[in-house]
Amino acid sequence: MTILTPNSPTAELQALDAAHHMHPFTHGAGLRGKGARVITRAEGCWLTDSDGNRILDGMAGLWCVNIGYGREELAEAAARQMRELPFYNTFFQTTHVPAINLAARLAELAPGDLNHVFFAGSGSEANDTNLRLVRTYWHEKGQPERQVVISRWNAYHGSSVGSGSLGGMKGMHAQGGMPIPGIAHIDQPDWWSAGGDQSPEDFGLAMAKQLEDKILEIGPDKVAAFIAEPVQGAGGVIVPPETYWPEISRIVKEYGILLIADEVICGFGRTGNWFGSQTMGITPDIMTIAKGLSSGYQPIGGSILSGEVARVISDTEFNHGYTYSGHPVACAVALENLRILDEEGIVTRVREDTGPYLKNKFESLADHPLVGEAKIVGMMGSIALTPEKAARAPFAAEAGTVGLITRERCFANNLVMRHVGDRMIISPPLVISKEEIDILIERAWESLDEAHAQLERDGLMKAGTRAA
Ligand SMILES: *Cc1c(COP(=O)(O)O)cnc(C)c1O
Repeated sequence: MTILTPNSPTAELQALDAAHHMHPFTHGAGLRGKGARVITRAEGCWLTDSDGNRILDGMAGLWCVNIGYGREELAEAAARQMRELPFYNTFFQTTHVPAINLAARLAELAPGDLNHVFFAGSGSEANDTNLRLVRTYWHEKGQPERQVVISRWNAYHGSSVGSGSLGGMKGMHAQGGMPIPGIAHIDQPDWWSAGGDQSPEDFGLAMAKQLEDKILEIGPDKVAAFIAEPVQGAGGVIVPPETYWPEISRIVKEYGILLIADEVICGFGRTGNWFGSQTMGITPDIMTIAKGLSSGYQPIGGSILSGEVARVISDTEFNHGYTYSGHPVACAVALENLRILDEEGIVTRVREDTGPYLKNKFESLADHPLVGEAKIVGMMGSIALTPEKAARAPFAAEAGTVGLITRERCFANNLVMRHVGDRMIISPPLVISKEEIDILIERAWESLDEAHAQLERDGLMKAGTRAA
């Protein structure tokens, strides 16, 4: 049995990784040729790899390390809880102190009467819970035919069969028989690529109107809920036009369907408020939480329910739960994470200080010849790459080709920026300083320059037509 350490040679780590470790969302053959990047430690906003490179993490891991890496307090909270009570379940009329405290704290933080928490181990699990919750809710309300959940193309709600079906990623649906029945999708409010000649305001209204059309097509008495991220994350950080959410809110209210806000990325300060629903001015019946809830230090997710939804569900036995629903160690770590986010004023700083600073710098990337638009809310932003700004044109090359080239240049410059198709996105730790923001923008600009030169060289600065 080989046990490697962070100081083992990179080639050895990569070889053993390639031999036995299957990576999520990774083309196996593509990886085998070059070996995975091995991250060995991290501090604040900085990762260290097995070759000793220091890399600025513009993605907070996977949108989750909101308070940054290396916080002793969270390690202590985990160790303390493991010594006291490493595990007990919350099934069958049992509870424990960390779950009690975390649920109460979340009820305090969540807006309106979102006061009841059902815990899960991840965002995917929480959305699976939500799918069953809303259907059970209508069943208990005497409207069992209300079963359909409407979502959006290109949404990301997780990777399990239920949550992956709720999501709108066609590449995922194509593998494994998804979506499951009873889920319908409408378009995302992506003005830059789909808005054509419409103003962003008109386009936002038109995209919201699709929800109403879909409800009428399915039959209003058959629709259970609409699920959406306040600002779409993994779909490319699609910031909706200002007209979008008010119109969606009107429609869900008019037809009496439940609104599920998937706050897995937007929650816990990412948009400058505790929840993206507050930033977008929406009032959901259920919120999905995960990621920033523990800053990624422990796997934990959950659903926060309104008083009304909780009351109706409580009238029956909800035959659902995960062994690790409300895991004591994860709850203790999440609680400590929320304390730090609050007491250190991190959410306020994103809203009033570093967020506006980042916005100003990030939007200047739109001046780069390769960039069509730069959009950012709080600390989640994206730029659209284009060969022809004025026409908002896509590249002739297959979607994602240019994004991948640009991401490789970012890595070469020790900056983690992710690509979604031909958009480049950032979602840094919320504790990023102004000096680090300057470094992020400098490296992004350099990487764009290098990508641009490479594209010119390879004849890839050619416009194509948009797929219908
Ligand atoms: C990541 C994500 C999920 C899934 O969370 P996991 O913890 O990976 O299962 C769900 N919704 C959104 C919006 C996400 O970004």
